[in-house]
Amino acid sequence: MKASMYNMYVEIDGNYVVFNTLNSKLYLVEGEIFRCLKNNYFEKGPVLESEEILANAGLIIDSEVDEINMFKHIVDKSIYDNNLRITIVLTANCNFRCQYCYQNKTNKRMSDEVENSIIKYIQKNIRGYKSVYIEWFGGEPLLEKKRLLRMSSTIKEICNQARVPYISSITTNGYLLDKETFTKLVESNCMYFQITVDGMGTLHDTLRPHVSGKGTFDKIIENLLVIKNMESNERFTIAIRNNISKRHIKEYAAFYDFFETHFADDRRFILIQKDIQNWGGDSVKEMANDLFEDDLEMLQFLKENEGKIKQNYSDLHESITNKLCYAFKKNGFAIDWDGSIYKCNKNIENERFKKKNYLGKIASNGTIKDNDPVSSIWLNKKFHDKCNTCELLPICFTTGCPASWIMNQEMTCMKENNKDKNLVYTVEREFKENRYIKI
Ligand code: SF4
Ligand code: SF4
Repeated sequence: MKASMYNMYVEIDGNYVVFNTLNSKLYLVEGEIFRCLKNNYFEKGPVLESEEILANAGLIIDSEVDEINMFKHIVDKSIYDNNLRITIVLTANCNFRCQYCYQNKTNKRMSDEVENSIIKYIQKNIRGYKSVYIEWFGGEPLLEKKRLLRMSSTIKEICNQARVPYISSITTNGYLLDKETFTKLVESNCMYFQITVDGMGTLHDTLRPHVSGKGTFDKIIENLLVIKNMESNERFTIAIRNNISKRHIKEYAAFYDFFETHFADDRRFILIQKDIQNWGGDSVKEMANDLFEDDLEMLQFLKENEGKIKQNYSDLHESITNKLCYAFKKNGFAIDWDGSIYKCNKNIENERFKKKNYLGKIASNGTIKDNDPVSSIWLNKKFHDKCNTCELLPICFTTGCPASWIMNQEMTCMKENNKDKNLVYTVEREFKENRYIKI
């Protein structure tokens, strides 16, 4: 046997913790086992006695197994699985004017014809899929509430008849998410909601104003509290996302108290922290000096506020399949409001990238032609040579953005970008919040 090359060893206040980046599990082990694993020493002692347990945990592995091949095999299974994942962009319009938004707002919206083509595609192909996952996107998708609810109910019906599981999610600014809309969305299997709230009222309203210029914080929070207080046993998830900039980072502390007071007791509400980046477009250029240059400053802030931020969630334990972006996958693509099909919906407006992103157009009879030259660019799994011995490969590869790798012609290195320090911090936090397995 040998220690898994994907073990990450962390000592936390005298505790010996191992995170396996391949199976995403976090273990607390005895000091002697920790040292044997780290030094790949198995001739005697507690490692031998606990061999079966450690092997089941993925911490040790048969010496003859080539773990890189095993990792590639697991990734392949996920890339070529039969789950259909479509991001549907219902409109290019939005009722907000966020300072860092990368999209150009226009009044363009999906037509009945494109809607019917998508439905026909799903109808014709449903028996070839094991499951259907739709992400509703915009602009602001709830500006097209009627169409969204109609499409979602129809897809649910098609999937029910074919006995194929269907679930959807929505990225919305939350302004139009009233009780009735929320209830209907959940009834049509929309179970995951991502809503951005950028700090408390004044800050949020500056960063994410309504198109009329008015604030939006009060309305979003009112909607969320109504949803929280509804009598319902539904198992939805509402992810409240904070987009954080260097300039405003200290102002977020007040929001953490607010989240804790109003939402943290309900595990259906989770908190996600992201740094604002230049995601493209013109408006973010005015914020150029406000953005983080690297992850360390944000990490410092998170450490300072450790224990105060109740997130109800960490993506540390997500499986490889869940971590991989849909654009990586053979059956993953985005359909824009006009029926154009892309691999990545976030780069639809990136003209320079279009040749590598555009797959074609859905036909009115619901046919989507294969575009092998473009698809093959996205299915490519190229690592640096140094990745062959890196314990972070499974996490670095599966959480990376394939579009940025294609644009930069190489994989983004977690170690070179200090993202490995973020990972260690997440491991420490998860350990302190007791989300680990004791061996
Ligand atoms: S390719 Fe990158 S930008 Fe596009 S959806 Fe995936 S992670 Fe996001
Ligand atoms: S890119 Fe860097 S961090 Fe990622 S697997 Fe390779 S060496 Fe490791």
